[in-house]
Amino acid sequence: MGRRKNNQNSMSLNNAQHQATKICFNDDEEEENSNLDDSIVATEKAIAMDDVTMSDPNGSFVDGGDDDNTSADYYFDSYSHFGIHEEMLKDVVRTKTYQNVIFQNKFLFKDKIVLDVGAGTGILSLFCAKAGAAHVYAVECSHIANMAKEIVESNGYSNVITVLKGKIEDIELPVAKVDIIISEWMGYFLLFENMLNSVLYTRDKWLANDGIVLPDKASLYLTAIEDAEYKEDKIEFWKNVYGFDMTCIKKQAMGEPLVDTVDQNQIVTNCQLLKTMDISKMASGDTSFTVPFKLVAERDDYIHALVAYFDVSFTKCHKLMGFSTGPRSRATHWKQTVLYLEDVLTICQGEALTGSMTVAPNKKNPRDIDITIKYSLNGQRCVASRTQHYKMR
Ligand code: SAH
Repeated sequence: MGRRKNNQNSMSLNNAQHQATKICFNDDEEEENSNLDDSIVATEKAIAMDDVTMSDPNGSFVDGGDDDNTSADYYFDSYSHFGIHEEMLKDVVRTKTYQNVIFQNKFLFKDKIVLDVGAGTGILSLFCAKAGAAHVYAVECSHIANMAKEIVESNGYSNVITVLKGKIEDIELPVAKVDIIISEWMGYFLLFENMLNSVLYTRDKWLANDGIVLPDKASLYLTAIEDAEYKEDKIEFWKNVYGFDMTCIKKQAMGEPLVDTVDQNQIVTNCQLLKTMDISKMASGDTSFTVPFKLVAERDDYIHALVAYFDVSFTKCHKLMGFSTGPRSRATHWKQTVLYLEDVLTICQGEALTGSMTVAPNKKNPRDIDITIKYSLNGQRCVASRTQHYKMR
């Protein structure tokens, strides 16, 4: 995907501009992995893992050995390929925060039973084992589980970590309860892929009464940006393609939120907290909601799009820890989610763009998200009011 204007080198730009977020952002253990900062590749996080039963109608895995995977396997299950795990591991904001949470809070893990939901390469399980967990169950449904098994063995943790290949919903655990559930389940726009539901299922089935979920809080935010140049490039482009009218694609492009890096200088209004989810308490239905917003312009400018992003926090740590994926924080592979508006809004400093956002899993495919935005501006120079529907897929 193309980079946004003023952001040809978005990673290094954002690293240079790295600002403290509201929550304590831990990147102080630089020595071990600091070389990763330079080698981050801002590739797309590939399409979400579709229901694995699509590639295997019986719902069980055909373990053909990892080198037997074909592009068909990866099409239906992108998490089988090491590339997506490489991108996640090299996202130092993400991985370092989990590492710091675990290593700086060993009191949480010592002699505890841990369940790692969606273990991938097993990295979080390895951190937990190293921090003194009594036993870690690493559950992973894609073929990368075979690699996780080898990784656990070759690092000498076979006696502490058990890798179980399968969907968490289908797995049987040799224990009745676990003390800690750890997972990196967050998708684009926080909820894309809907893996949160699997974590909630796991919590209800296996978490001991005094057990904890890591992370335990996730919040979604909204702001508004000036984005004339890029909207022209991504949306208006379709009006005249080598002299032909492709406006029908423009309509589709408008309805698909764009995952991309936003420069903080594009932000026109305040950033508003839309919704906080408490992973330790919420119900699966709480991922559908309607919330109001009021975005107040901090300068005279034009608004072309709304931008959503999230942060997650680990409140059970000795000191609050977490990270933000916002445009004012260091870049992550989640980037931000841009929702283009039909209207270009001419907003004056102090005026408010008000409205509501409705979010719900798509009925046909709950891994996709339907978003509806209602907005209105009653300003000196611009009066506009509209409802727009978006689909993340
Ligand atoms: N924990 C790893 C990987 C995170 S990505 C890390 O931090 O690097 C999420 C992983 O969860 C993917 O590998 C995906 O295949 C897996 N996953 C998604 N839904 C799952 C489910 N219901 N059961 C088991 N694994 C799941």
